[in-house]
Amino acid sequence: MKKPVSETLDGMVADLKTYLQTHKIDDPVLLGIHTGGAWVAQALQARLGDDISLGQLDISFYRDDFSRIGMHPQVRPSNIPFSIENRHVLLVDDVLYTGRTIRAAMNEIFDYGRPASITLVVLVERDGRELPIEAQVVGAHLQLAADEQIKLRGPDPLHLDIVSLEPE
Ligand code: 5GP
Ligand code: MG
Repeated sequence: MKKPVSETLDGMVADLKTYLQTHKIDDPVLLGIHTGGAWVAQALQARLGDDISLGQLDISFYRDDFSRIGMHPQVRPSNIPFSIENRHVLLVDDVLYTGRTIRAAMNEIFDYGRPASITLVVLVERDGRELPIEAQVVGAHLQLAADEQIKLRGPDPLHLDIVSLEPE
């Protein structure tokens, strides 16, 4: 299955605007988690307007399963060209699964400062949470079989594939 995600992104922007309004969140900033989340955050910024600041987080060093990534992971520096102190952060990722990436991202955010709030925005949510983390804005809820994975291709156009993993 191949699916362009432009409609999903449009729906997310509508939900996000409603969420920000009902929660009286003014002047938020976007932080995308490298790589897929950075693409999604970029696509959201394109729809929300350039006046919303955009940064990227690379949380490889903060993952609790860092050693499983290997001895020499490709780690890119986080790029947050603004202060997050007392700002409303929209934390953006492509897929929410166990929740460990988001836990790590929040640790990193607090090393930069104390945000006024963090709202989690994800393109896709799948079952399998291992931590008490939920997204406030979700593009799509997908139920995947154990041998299936979501593949995101981007950044432009951003595409989703549901792929079956090869049996080992
Ligand atoms: P978690 O840390 O919640 O287990 O996994 C979320 C992170 O792993 C996200 O940053 C996402 O990029 C990646 N991820 C987890 N499951 C999938 C999946 O099925 N497809 C893709 N593309 N990424 C996934
Ligand atoms: Mg990721």
